Amino acid sequence: MEKVQIYKFGGASVRDAAAIQNLASIVQRYGSEQPLLVVVSAMGKTTNALEELFQLAYVGQDYTAQLARLGAFHQNIATELEEANGVAPDDAVAPTLSEMLTELADGLATVGPGDYDRQYDQIVSFGELLATSIVARALGVRWLDCRPLIRTDHTWREGRLDWPTTERNIAATLPELLAKGPVLTQGFLGGTAGGATTTLGREGSDYTAAIFAYCLRAASVTIWKDVAGLLNADPKIFPDTVRYAEISYRETIEMAYYGASVIHPKTLKPLADRSIPLRIKSFLDPEAEGTLVHDCQHPALAPAFICKTDQCLLSFESKDFAFISEENLEVIFGALAQAKLKINVMQNSAISFSVCTDFSERRISKLLDLLREQFTLHYNTGLTLFTIKNYDAASITRLTAGRGLLLEQRTRSTFQFVCK
Ligand code: ASP
Ligand code: MG
Repeated sequence: MEKVQIYKFGGASVRDAAAIQNLASIVQRYGSEQPLLVVVSAMGKTTNALEELFQLAYVGQDYTAQLARLGAFHQNIATELEEANGVAPDDAVAPTLSEMLTELADGLATVGPGDYDRQYDQIVSFGELLATSIVARALGVRWLDCRPLIRTDHTWREGRLDWPTTERNIAATLPELLAKGPVLTQGFLGGTAGGATTTLGREGSDYTAAIFAYCLRAASVTIWKDVAGLLNADPKIFPDTVRYAEISYRETIEMAYYGASVIHPKTLKPLADRSIPLRIKSFLDPEAEGTLVHDCQHPALAPAFICKTDQCLLSFESKDFAFISEENLEVIFGALAQAKLKINVMQNSAISFSVCTDFSERRISKLLDLLREQFTLHYNTGLTLFTIKNYDAASITRLTAGRGLLLEQRTRSTFQFVCK
């Protein structure tokens, strides 16, 4: 079979009927030369809305208004598209929107005390299921449920991939389907061997595109965004950004790791492993060049400014004023892993150890429970972590001026600080 190209469309590119029409025109214009797999994530802010719905259901509060709003949002878009395009032909074989909304309502009715993260995945996954049902019909292309193919373990909300099984599943299913025409599937989702739904971590649809690309040895992946490509800063925060026309996998992995929100950090490794080029392009201006991420050598890049908000800075002191020892660190790291908190930066001094993590009330309180006996803990929330990659003196002055720094760290290529 001819090599496949993979397109990934995120929430902003399917936020309303007009956006979906635009997606359809991109698929028609550029997607017809080679077999095409399209990966779509939930519409607009649907995943956040589902998180809220799930939370209400979990604590036993009334969620009917929120559920009705979510249903109406999707129904209105579907109706608008049907009025514009007519009803999809039968071979789109996507489940109908009302089937899925009923399934969601039934699922919510069973939510209750018990494993929070497992139940979260069963509900929050509906964002992608609803979106792909609508988009597949609008495009008149085949809908594929990715959950039986993308096999993960039981790490709910951050499913870890069983690569050999996934590769086998995809190789056994996709080529035949792709030979018949474009296929559309969900980002962000996976499934366990027992058939339960898992999710791959927030913003994980990029990773899905990379998983399919790896398993199909795809020709390329294109991530369609509402920005012109990979920029050296978020244009919503910094006024004068530059776009990298070409960049290596390694540089991109580091930027994604530090929190450049343009791409999910897990996306790059599968692509780099099989030298599959990644294009980041604007769905608002599809003719524009965008960014090409691939195996390449390039001269020093313009400094990149990366900002992670909603950070929490925790510091631990051993209760007896003993030094922070390797034994202490072992306990602290163990507790961080158990609480599923990821370290964004850390720093050690004689009697205290500090880590900066994404804020999650549940996870922090779990951590505090685990460590309270042995350590005195302090923490600050509502902080921002800034990273400058490929920094120079001017870029540091520019970013730190007038901010009180709570923690600061630099290596040869990277300068990071935490501030209010
Ligand atoms: N819909 C999911 C999220 O909002 C996955 C994604 O957008 O990539 O996190
Ligand atoms: Mg998204």
